[in-house]
Amino acid sequence: MPLTQEQSNQIKNQLLENLQFFPENQQELIKQKILSLSPNELEQFLKENKLVKQECIFCSILKGEIPSYKINEDENNIAILEINPLSRGHTLIIPKKHINKIPDSTRDFTQKVARQLAKLKPKQIRLKQNNILGHQIMEALPVYDEEPKERKKASATELKKIQKELIQKKSRGKAASLSKKEIKIPTLPERIP
Ligand SMILES: [Zn+2]
Repeated sequence: MPLTQEQSNQIKNQLLENLQFFPENQQELIKQKILSLSPNELEQFLKENKLVKQECIFCSILKGEIPSYKINEDENNIAILEINPLSRGHTLIIPKKHINKIPDSTRDFTQKVARQLAKLKPKQIRLKQNNILGHQIMEALPVYDEEPKERKKASATELKKIQKELIQKKSRGKAASLSKKEIKIPTLPERIP
Protein backbone atom coordinates (compact mmCIF):
# COMPACT_ATOMS: atom_id res chain seq x y z
CA MET A 1 0.00 0.00 0.00
CA PRO A 2 2.21 2.82 -1.24
CA LEU A 3 1.72 6.53 -0.93
CA THR A 4 -1.17 7.92 -2.91
CA GLN A 5 -0.45 10.39 -5.68
CA GLU A 6 -1.83 13.15 -3.51
CA GLN A 7 0.34 12.28 -0.49
CA SER A 8 3.29 11.97 -2.81
CA ASN A 9 2.70 15.43 -4.28
CA GLN A 10 2.39 16.97 -0.82
CA ILE A 11 5.68 15.45 0.29
CA LYS A 12 7.38 16.58 -2.92
CA ASN A 13 6.22 20.13 -2.30
CA GLN A 14 7.62 20.02 1.22
CA LEU A 15 10.93 18.75 -0.10
CA LEU A 16 11.06 21.42 -2.78
CA GLU A 17 10.63 24.12 -0.13
CA ASN A 18 13.96 23.03 1.29
CA LEU A 19 15.86 23.32 -1.97
CA GLN A 20 17.43 26.61 -0.86
CA PHE A 21 19.55 24.70 1.64
CA PHE A 22 21.35 22.88 -1.14
CA PRO A 23 24.22 24.39 -3.12
CA GLU A 24 22.81 26.59 -5.85
CA ASN A 25 24.42 24.65 -8.72
CA GLN A 26 22.72 21.44 -7.56
CA GLN A 27 19.26 22.81 -6.95
CA GLU A 28 17.88 22.25 -10.43
CA LEU A 29 19.18 18.69 -10.58
CA ILE A 30 17.71 17.83 -7.19
CA LYS A 31 14.43 19.41 -8.14
CA GLN A 32 14.17 17.33 -11.31
CA LYS A 33 15.12 14.21 -9.38
CA ILE A 34 12.43 14.80 -6.76
CA LEU A 35 9.76 15.56 -9.35
CA SER A 36 10.56 12.42 -11.32
CA LEU A 37 10.07 10.03 -8.40
CA SER A 38 7.05 7.72 -8.43
CA PRO A 39 5.21 7.38 -5.11
CA ASN A 40 7.10 4.12 -4.43
CA GLU A 41 10.44 5.65 -5.31
CA LEU A 42 9.67 8.65 -3.17
CA GLU A 43 8.96 6.41 -0.22
CA GLN A 44 12.27 4.67 -0.81
CA PHE A 45 14.05 8.01 -1.20
CA LEU A 46 12.66 9.28 2.11
CA LYS A 47 13.71 6.09 3.83
CA GLU A 48 17.22 6.10 2.39
CA ASN A 49 17.76 9.68 3.35
CA LYS A 50 16.33 9.05 6.80
CA LEU A 51 13.78 11.78 6.26
CA VAL A 52 11.02 9.82 7.86
CA LYS A 53 10.71 7.64 10.84
CA GLN A 54 8.25 5.22 9.46
CA GLU A 55 6.79 2.03 10.72
CA CYS A 56 6.45 -0.69 8.16
CA ILE A 57 2.96 -0.42 6.72
CA PHE A 58 2.67 -4.17 6.16
CA CYS A 59 3.62 -4.95 9.74
CA SER A 60 0.99 -2.43 10.84
CA ILE A 61 -1.59 -4.21 8.69
CA LEU A 62 -0.55 -7.56 10.15
CA LYS A 63 -0.94 -6.18 13.66
CA GLY A 64 -4.42 -5.01 12.75
CA GLU A 65 -3.49 -1.36 13.28
CA ILE A 66 -4.57 -0.52 9.76
CA PRO A 67 -7.85 -1.94 8.50
CA SER A 68 -7.58 -4.12 5.42
CA TYR A 69 -9.69 -6.33 3.19
CA LYS A 70 -8.37 -9.83 3.64
CA ILE A 71 -9.18 -12.40 0.97
CA ASN A 72 -6.97 -15.28 2.11
CA GLU A 73 -4.60 -16.29 4.88
CA ASP A 74 -2.41 -19.17 5.92
CA GLU A 75 0.00 -19.53 8.81
CA ASN A 76 2.78 -17.58 7.08
CA ASN A 77 1.01 -15.11 4.80
CA ILE A 78 -2.02 -12.96 4.26
CA ALA A 79 -3.56 -11.68 1.04
CA ILE A 80 -5.35 -8.34 1.11
CA LEU A 81 -6.90 -6.11 -1.50
CA GLU A 82 -4.85 -3.08 -2.54
CA ILE A 83 -6.85 0.02 -1.62
CA ASN A 84 -5.33 2.02 -4.47
CA PRO A 85 -5.60 -0.71 -7.09
CA LEU A 86 -4.29 -0.67 -10.63
CA SER A 87 -7.10 -3.02 -11.59
CA ARG A 88 -10.10 -4.70 -10.01
CA GLY A 89 -8.90 -7.30 -7.52
CA HIS A 90 -5.29 -6.03 -7.32
CA THR A 91 -3.99 -7.98 -4.34
CA LEU A 92 -1.00 -7.76 -1.99
CA ILE A 93 0.41 -11.00 -0.62
CA ILE A 94 2.25 -10.25 2.58
CA PRO A 95 4.55 -12.68 4.39
CA LYS A 96 3.89 -12.41 8.11
CA LYS A 97 7.59 -11.97 8.77
CA HIS A 98 9.34 -8.70 7.93
CA ILE A 99 11.97 -10.19 5.65
CA ASN A 100 13.80 -9.16 2.53
CA LYS A 101 13.37 -12.43 0.68
CA ILE A 102 10.19 -14.13 -0.50
CA PRO A 103 10.01 -17.57 1.13
CA ASP A 104 8.86 -20.59 -0.91
CA SER A 105 5.76 -20.82 1.25
CA THR A 106 4.78 -17.36 0.02
CA ARG A 107 5.27 -18.39 -3.61
CA ASP A 108 2.97 -21.36 -3.12
CA PHE A 109 0.43 -19.23 -1.33
CA THR A 110 0.62 -16.66 -4.15
CA GLN A 111 -0.28 -19.34 -6.69
CA LYS A 112 -3.30 -20.17 -4.60
CA VAL A 113 -4.33 -16.52 -4.44
CA ALA A 114 -3.85 -16.16 -8.20
CA ARG A 115 -6.21 -19.08 -8.81
CA GLN A 116 -8.66 -17.43 -6.43
CA LEU A 117 -8.45 -14.16 -8.41
CA ALA A 118 -9.36 -16.08 -11.55
CA LYS A 119 -12.93 -15.87 -10.23
CA LEU A 120 -12.91 -12.25 -11.36
CA LYS A 121 -12.36 -13.54 -14.92
CA PRO A 122 -9.32 -11.50 -15.89
CA LYS A 123 -7.47 -12.29 -19.12
CA GLN A 124 -4.34 -12.92 -17.14
CA ILE A 125 -2.87 -12.40 -13.71
CA ARG A 126 0.53 -10.80 -13.36
CA LEU A 127 2.62 -11.59 -10.33
CA LYS A 128 5.38 -9.31 -9.20
CA GLN A 129 7.61 -8.82 -6.24
CA ASN A 130 7.80 -5.54 -4.46
CA ASN A 131 9.81 -4.37 -1.51
CA ILE A 132 8.64 -1.51 0.62
CA LEU A 133 10.75 -0.52 3.60
CA GLY A 134 12.46 -3.89 3.60
CA HIS A 135 9.29 -5.95 3.73
CA GLN A 136 9.24 -8.12 0.64
CA ILE A 137 5.76 -8.80 -0.70
CA MET A 138 4.12 -10.24 -3.81
CA GLU A 139 1.50 -8.46 -5.83
CA ALA A 140 -1.09 -10.18 -7.97
CA LEU A 141 -2.53 -7.96 -10.66
CA PRO A 142 -5.53 -9.15 -12.66
CA VAL A 143 -5.37 -7.78 -16.22
CA TYR A 144 -8.60 -7.36 -18.14
CA ASP A 145 -9.17 -5.82 -21.58
CA GLU A 146 -7.16 -2.72 -20.89
CA GLU A 147 -3.59 -2.43 -19.76
CA PRO A 148 -3.65 -1.24 -16.12
CA LYS A 149 -1.98 2.15 -15.94
CA GLU A 150 -3.35 4.21 -13.16
CA ARG A 151 -3.97 3.59 -9.51
CA LYS A 152 -7.42 4.58 -8.38
CA LYS A 153 -8.59 4.70 -4.83
CA ALA A 154 -11.25 2.03 -4.40
CA SER A 155 -14.26 2.73 -2.19
CA ALA A 156 -14.93 0.59 0.85
CA THR A 157 -18.13 -0.62 -0.81
CA GLU A 158 -16.27 -1.75 -3.92
CA LEU A 159 -13.54 -3.48 -1.91
CA LYS A 160 -16.09 -5.28 0.25
CA LYS A 161 -17.90 -6.45 -2.86
CA ILE A 162 -14.74 -7.88 -4.41
CA GLN A 163 -13.76 -9.42 -1.07
CA LYS A 164 -17.12 -11.17 -0.85
CA GLU A 165 -16.87 -12.39 -4.42
CA LEU A 166 -13.40 -13.81 -3.79
CA ILE A 167 -14.08 -15.58 -0.53
CA GLN A 168 -17.20 -17.34 -1.74
CA LYS A 169 -16.51 -21.04 -1.78
CA LYS A 170 -17.79 -21.89 -5.24
CA SER A 171 -16.76 -20.27 -8.46
CA ARG A 172 -19.25 -20.43 -11.26
CA GLY A 173 -18.42 -22.06 -14.56
CA LYS A 174 -15.32 -23.18 -16.33
CA ALA A 175 -14.20 -19.75 -17.47
CA ALA A 176 -13.41 -18.91 -13.90
CA SER A 177 -10.20 -20.84 -13.72
CA LEU A 178 -6.85 -20.03 -15.24
CA SER A 179 -4.55 -22.89 -15.97
CA LYS A 180 -1.51 -23.17 -13.77
CA LYS A 181 0.98 -22.58 -16.53
CA GLU A 182 -0.41 -19.10 -17.20
CA ILE A 183 0.75 -18.06 -13.79
CA LYS A 184 4.43 -17.29 -13.55
CA ILE A 185 6.29 -15.94 -10.60
CA PRO A 186 9.25 -13.75 -11.46
CA THR A 187 12.47 -14.37 -9.64
CA LEU A 188 13.76 -10.83 -9.85
CA PRO A 189 12.22 -7.99 -7.90
CA GLU A 190 10.13 -5.91 -10.21
CA ARG A 191 7.72 -3.09 -9.71
CA ILE A 192 4.26 -2.72 -11.01
CA PRO A 193 4.29 0.74 -12.59
ZN1 LIG B 1 7.13 -5.19 7.82
